[in-house]
Amino acid sequence: MSNIDPRWGSWAKRPDPIPQDQIVKEIRCDVAVLGAGISGAACALRAAQGGLSVTVLEKAAIWSARGGNIGVVGSSYMDARGYRNDPEKIAREWIARCGNRCDEELVWLYLDRSRDAMDWLIDIVTRPEYGARPELQACLYAGDTYYEVFGSHRFFDGPMAKKGMRPGAADAVYAMVTEAEKLGVRFLYRSPAVELVRDGGRVTGAVARSEDGYVRVLASKGVVLATGDIGGSPEMCADLAPLAVRCGVNLYTPKGCNTGDGHRLGLWAGGALEDGPFPMILHPQAHFFANYCFLFVDGNGKRFMNEDNYIQGKSIAMLRRHMTCAWSIIDGSWRETIPVSIRYGGGIFWDLDHAPDEPGFTPEVGEKMLESGLRSGKVVTADTPQKLAEAMGVPSDAFASTLARYNADAHAGKDTQFGKRRELLFPLEKPPFYALKFGPAVLAVVGGLKVGTDMGVRDENGNAVAGLYAVGNAAGGRYGVDYPMLIPGNSHGTALTFGYVLGEQLVSG
Ligand SMILES: Cc1cc2nc3c(=O)[nH]c(=O)nc-3n(C[C@H](O)[C@H](O)[C@H](O)COP(=O)(O)OP(=O)(O)OC[C@H]3O[C@@H](n4cnc5c(N)ncnc54)[C@H](O)[C@@H]3O)c2cc1C
Repeated sequence: MSNIDPRWGSWAKRPDPIPQDQIVKEIRCDVAVLGAGISGAACALRAAQGGLSVTVLEKAAIWSARGGNIGVVGSSYMDARGYRNDPEKIAREWIARCGNRCDEELVWLYLDRSRDAMDWLIDIVTRPEYGARPELQACLYAGDTYYEVFGSHRFFDGPMAKKGMRPGAADAVYAMVTEAEKLGVRFLYRSPAVELVRDGGRVTGAVARSEDGYVRVLASKGVVLATGDIGGSPEMCADLAPLAVRCGVNLYTPKGCNTGDGHRLGLWAGGALEDGPFPMILHPQAHFFANYCFLFVDGNGKRFMNEDNYIQGKSIAMLRRHMTCAWSIIDGSWRETIPVSIRYGGGIFWDLDHAPDEPGFTPEVGEKMLESGLRSGKVVTADTPQKLAEAMGVPSDAFASTLARYNADAHAGKDTQFGKRRELLFPLEKPPFYALKFGPAVLAVVGGLKVGTDMGVRDENGNAVAGLYAVGNAAGGRYGVDYPMLIPGNSHGTALTFGYVLGEQLVSG
């Protein structure tokens, strides 16, 4: 039994079946993978390595990837660099951050198998034809309550990075797709899956709309939904992730491809969606990239949160108040105070993204960023708080009293409003003053269909929808409430791991 809610919009309504006479081509294979993103590419390649015939249907003109970090619990590469995580500690923390709305068994599948998936991926991307160089991300939030741990891998110097793409996921997906093609995996691009084929209760294939007409792919071992997230469908977000609609900025590319197609196909086949509202990956990067930790003010010139918060928390604090942006205030002592603050906080949008043996934030980097922000208008500067308020367009009296209280608290070493750690209380008194405009952006909505640890789609009662699987953001159960920035890049990490594990399982099943 599916759990389609009658209050949901028209997106949940099953369309009429495609007339048989409009199907111009049929392909038979063992596995049909819908979507050539990171989870689909991993699943297709792993299944093909086990000797299965695989067809991949992809909506876009080419495979897709974005972002840099692929977060796993461990890898041989991490071992060699001397970094080790305690999976039990991570599990406890993950479950706490997800309010235990995640599926503990899925969390443990990631904890147990992400190392294998990453070792496998590193072995591929470092082959001479790809020549990518793995590296760890060392720009981690060092808070006492919110913290991040090592595990985020990136790939530098690969063919896609050399073309200007962000080093990381693009080279991973490119290498997996290329290897899959070498093993005979068929990729049909510009071919969105629009319908699942069913034989009795079992899903046996999918129909894609191609430029030449409809193509039916029949898959004897299974159909894998790897179609990504719902963030590109405002209608679905309104029902399942309302804060994503409020955010207004969505950074996903290719635009129009993350419209929850797999979620709908799964629902219409009898699968159930995990309970909403869906968790989201939110980063405060909609305007200026960095925001640090000093004083944040809203459009009324008032402080609204403890600035010592993780990146999701900063974004949600704004969205809850219907704010699409805020101002982060720094003063002329930023060259000294930012490096000190990073010892207690940091992470992306505060420190500089860097590898373990590279320098992080430096005044030279900060200078360049500020200059570019001033040029683009995302940063404003003034010699007095009064003029800064005018440049921000906030009431100057309110801003003056906010600043006065903040500075008094900073001198006293006690945040009387939001209890920020005293190590992060720095008076803002030295001109010139700067205001950095920052705001929340959605990267992905990471909720999906209910699945078991076999990645098989489940109905509302926990029964399997035979023949149908979901991985990546089409699948639910990994998070709940919020995306835990515990191991940065764990969205890619879980997508990779579950795609890899499913490919392997389809071979043995
Ligand atoms: C700017 C940006 C940066 C990011 N950086 C990071 C990061 O550093 N680390 C991290 O962990 N996460 C990051 N993310 C999130 C991450 O990209 C996704 O969570 C991740 O790619 C999900 O993988 P997936 O395989 O589920 O889906 P996707 O990678 O989204 O792939 C889904 C694929 O399915 C295709 N598709 C959709 N519908 C159909 C259909 N009907 N038929 C066939 N194909 C279809 C799509 O075109 C797409 O190619 C970032 C997101 C953005 C927007």
